Amino acid sequence: MCGIIGYVGSRTALPLILEGLKNLEYRGYDSAGIAVISNDQLRIKKDVGRVDRLLADPNFNKTKGVIGIGHTRWATHGKVCVENAHPHTDCTEKIAIVHNGILENFRELKSELLKRKHIIRSETDSELIAHIIEEYLKIKPTFLDAFSEALKRLEGSYAILAIKADEKVILGAKKSSPLVLGVSEHGIFISSDIPSFLEHTKNVVYFHDGDIVKASPDGFNVFSNEAKVHRPIDTIDWDVEQVKKGDFDHFMLKEIMEQTETIQRAIQQDETIVKQISEAFKSAKGIFFVGCGSSYHACLAGSYVFSKISNLHVNVCLGSEFENFEHFLTPETLVVAISQSGETADTLGAVRVAKKKGCKILTIVNVMGSSLMREGEVSLLLKAGPEMCVLSTKTYTSQVALLTLLAFVVADRLEDGKNEMKKLWLEIYKLTSRTMREHIRKLAHPMINAEHVYLIGRGLQYTTALEAALKIKEVSYIHAEAFAGGELKHGTLALIEEGTPCIVFVSGENNKIIQNVHEIKSRGGVIIGVSPQQNEIFDFWIKVPEVGLLSSIIQIIPIQILSYYLAVLKGLDPDRPRHLAKSVTVE
Ligand code: GLU
Repeated sequence: MCGIIGYVGSRTALPLILEGLKNLEYRGYDSAGIAVISNDQLRIKKDVGRVDRLLADPNFNKTKGVIGIGHTRWATHGKVCVENAHPHTDCTEKIAIVHNGILENFRELKSELLKRKHIIRSETDSELIAHIIEEYLKIKPTFLDAFSEALKRLEGSYAILAIKADEKVILGAKKSSPLVLGVSEHGIFISSDIPSFLEHTKNVVYFHDGDIVKASPDGFNVFSNEAKVHRPIDTIDWDVEQVKKGDFDHFMLKEIMEQTETIQRAIQQDETIVKQISEAFKSAKGIFFVGCGSSYHACLAGSYVFSKISNLHVNVCLGSEFENFEHFLTPETLVVAISQSGETADTLGAVRVAKKKGCKILTIVNVMGSSLMREGEVSLLLKAGPEMCVLSTKTYTSQVALLTLLAFVVADRLEDGKNEMKKLWLEIYKLTSRTMREHIRKLAHPMINAEHVYLIGRGLQYTTALEAALKIKEVSYIHAEAFAGGELKHGTLALIEEGTPCIVFVSGENNKIIQNVHEIKSRGGVIIGVSPQQNEIFDFWIKVPEVGLLSSIIQIIPIQILSYYLAVLKGLDPDRPRHLAKSVTVE
């Protein structure tokens, strides 16, 4: 889940790597480090905390050298401390590596290396890679050979970059972790994600699992199974402004505001392809939607919409739980796997299970060239642009919008669906207006001291409640829990105390949910209604438009804004919640 980046070219590497790491911080931010080759020696700087800490050393920042690698960590093995921060070196301190992933056989590897008298300085699994390369350098003629032999010893997932003090190259490899190369006019970048080098180039090369790349100031070569292979250079249409905050204090608010446009982009899909997909839905015997976190909530919302619009039953499953249902999978099953990054390890794992059973696979991702995109027979892009905040906002609504579009296609009502959804931008514009934001900010003020917040809804609104609860807790650290309105009386009503804030999502003539609200109110709950209609039972009303089956795209937006203000008013950084990282590339 960490971010790695390397640069080799004609410019001084250090500032490029620092800048790249800052743009990768959403992937992990407990510690960071850089290694640069300067006068045939490795110069390394690491620290705990954010990348900015690395900038605080003026001596190191003068380091020259045109080759370097960097890392921003999300610890999996070993606590957060300087010793465990990457880059890690071998015993000779000539080889430095950065690693994203987990080595499953690290215990065996470690005991083998200790027997061979290697000095292991950290508790990480990653450091072992540098020592294994060191071992193979004793018997292999080149750095590349030693690197490629070392990879054969690794079990688990990895994206690795390695440099050697006396070689003018960066070696890279990937297996089940993301790695992408950028070709700029002045040099080559190799990184976990495109935003890290977007200011320098839009020309990118995607790798396959098992690829090894060797980059030098003269260019790059890719190898697979020891033979040179061709990987084409693609041009991405992301805009460099999208990875900058512009006039906003935080990416979270910027990305919430972008939803006026991102919804429209999500539904602009190739009609021939969506019609083919619709045939796959119609002929499937068993359909699964699979995702994790917010993508899972999008899957849930999608299942309600498919039930109502296209009269199809969809099974919804968390990526990490999917294997429990594998005996229901056949070549006639359609599996729709959804992930913002396209690198979510649990969702990728689910797709691999489905592939073994011969299922048809459709993937929906935001990142072009991502692993999940390549795993699908067909893949649709959300086109939301890079999402820099750790929380999903615009990509969640794009996922729901795209699933809703597919539901309309399956019902042979593509034009209806498009026309309905085209109207949404104006509603989102109003919901994100300054007046609305101020209104919601007023609500956030008294809520920052709440210990618990409960959210309820029925039908589609229940799925919105689930996503809204996730938004509140992940960014404000207030315990937030969602329930289906009908479930309250089955136990959870016991949690309501005098003054407990309860958010209720209402759409249409939903009298049953109002009945549930009365039950909460009579036990002292403070009611926040997200509803097209005012109701005297609400203590606070957030007016949303009545958009029927499109309500889950719309009703989440005020709670995204509320979550943002809860974090800001509590003095927290909404873009970087504690313990989290954006793309969860470990299982
Ligand atoms: N397993 C490595 C560590 O704990 C890398 C973790 C990551 O991918 O962020 O340092």
